[in-house]
Amino acid sequence: MGDDLDDILAQAECPRCGREFSIRYRTLRLERTVDCPGCGETIRPIDDTPIGLVQKLIDEAQGRT
Ligand SMILES: [Zn+2]
Repeated sequence: MGDDLDDILAQAECPRCGREFSIRYRTLRLERTVDCPGCGETIRPIDDTPIGLVQKLIDEAQGRT
């Protein structure tokens, strides 16, 4: 197993239409980009979202085990 981290959700905001949506850490890790569910714009959450927040969630998840 050990895939728990992949289920962590990070918030992202589309720089084009402003829509907020959640992205799985798995997506961040494997694909690096995601299509906005609102306008279809391809964005890079790594650049466009506070990745520190994701890191914090990861730290917390690891601390639990
Ligand atoms: Zn959008």
